[in-house]
Amino acid sequence: MAKYLSNNGHGNRRPRRSRHKWHYYIPTVIMVVLAIACVAVIGWVIKSVSDLHDPSLNDGTGQIIIDTGSSSDPVTEPSTEPTEGAAPVDELIAQADLLAAGYDYDAAIELIKSSPEFEGSAELGDKVAEYTLLKSKTSAYAAPHTVTHIFFHSLIVDTDRAFDGDEDQDGYNLYMTTVDEFKAILQQMYDRGYVLISPYDLAYENEDGEFVYGDIMLPPGKTPFLMSQDDLNYYSYMIGTGNGKNNTPIFVDGNNDGFASKIVIDNGYPKCEYVDADGNVHIGDYDLVPILETFIQEHPDFSYRGARAILGVTGYEGVFGYRTKPNYQAELDAMHAADPDKYPSYEEEVAAAKEVAQCLRDHGWILASHSYGHPAYGNISADRVAADSDKWENTVEPIIGETDVILFPHGSDIHTWREYPADNAKFVALYEDGFRYFFNVDGNQYWNQLGNNYFRGGRRNVDGYRMYHDPEKLEDLFDVETVFDDARPLPVPGKDGTSM
Ligand SMILES: [Zn+2]
Repeated sequence: MAKYLSNNGHGNRRPRRSRHKWHYYIPTVIMVVLAIACVAVIGWVIKSVSDLHDPSLNDGTGQIIIDTGSSSDPVTEPSTEPTEGAAPVDELIAQADLLAAGYDYDAAIELIKSSPEFEGSAELGDKVAEYTLLKSKTSAYAAPHTVTHIFFHSLIVDTDRAFDGDEDQDGYNLYMTTVDEFKAILQQMYDRGYVLISPYDLAYENEDGEFVYGDIMLPPGKTPFLMSQDDLNYYSYMIGTGNGKNNTPIFVDGNNDGFASKIVIDNGYPKCEYVDADGNVHIGDYDLVPILETFIQEHPDFSYRGARAILGVTGYEGVFGYRTKPNYQAELDAMHAADPDKYPSYEEEVAAAKEVAQCLRDHGWILASHSYGHPAYGNISADRVAADSDKWENTVEPIIGETDVILFPHGSDIHTWREYPADNAKFVALYEDGFRYFFNVDGNQYWNQLGNNYFRGGRRNVDGYRMYHDPEKLEDLFDVETVFDDARPLPVPGKDGTSM
């Protein structure tokens, strides 16, 4: 991408301001567009497996099973989605109710009033009155600096294979969360009134080029929070045999460690491919993205104005499970030439990853840098930070699109807790690369900082280490005792300096 010009450290320019505005309105726009699109395609949404956008699915690992990840937890379309033959007014109200459930009462009212049926309809008039009353009960969240931010890595689907005693077991036990734990966490946080918000709603660059807290308009009893996931790459060590750090792309095989292997698009929604221990390929809710997506469809009031989590990707093994690293191109194209049914071409792989990125963005997910090679930015020189970030911009951003959010690898920040000095060489390099939202890892319940020309926040790891060693640090979010997965080998080891 083109680099953003430096503002010479004075913070008076408003780089990418229009993009902030655009981000701000995306959730509302997308919800309406999606609702309309659903009506348009209602007649043919029952898809065949050929629509999975995934040329590698039909390779020899076994049958393809389309499911939703859990028989007890079926994917339901939003309850407010219009059904075939529904009256237009009912459809309109369903769409408006969905907007109102996500606390966007103005958009709900506007949608109702935009209807030609509005004049003279008592039912629609009542709806406007209802939304107006609900809106009057909201107020701006009083303490935005206390908004907490939790983060996860890839979720463990099959604990038998993740905790099989091999060399990766301790890392998974320390830094990963299981699917069952994640689902329990979501439910408990929802029950406690937590509402997922976007960092663009928490803080944004105002007309004067200064970062300020936004007004998060919520009813009493609701608590906003941020969520992110690091390393949404489906690395070779998790999904197969071999080392994907060299020039040879590694694809999923039956020896995977019980994780999903890629994000795919299913009926317009992000889902995961997962290969079980018998080699069967499943499409469903096998990682954070589709699980949270399904949860929000079932509980639209868990998401503030369509917010989803932030997803951080590195570049050294491709993104979202697609082997898009440019160094793979020669070998992948050779593999494709030798066995075109089993392996996609490099070009096809890049195209598929771009489609996934667009699908994620369309649903409100924020895509972020997690660096190219996962070095600890705090421990390397400014020149190396700049070089790593440039490599990410040159090889990852063309695929996932522009972003102004970075999740520091290892949580390693580029400066102390004090504000970034305008002449800090690492900050200058990242600022010039377009980053405005910086997130480290911090054990505190919350830590947020409004800089002059940036926003910075701490994130809490919700993983085996934290749940086992510091359960009291998670008490505000959920009850660890009822969440902790019995399948974990105990004790969860202490940290020995390794991290993911
Ligand atoms: Zn990481």
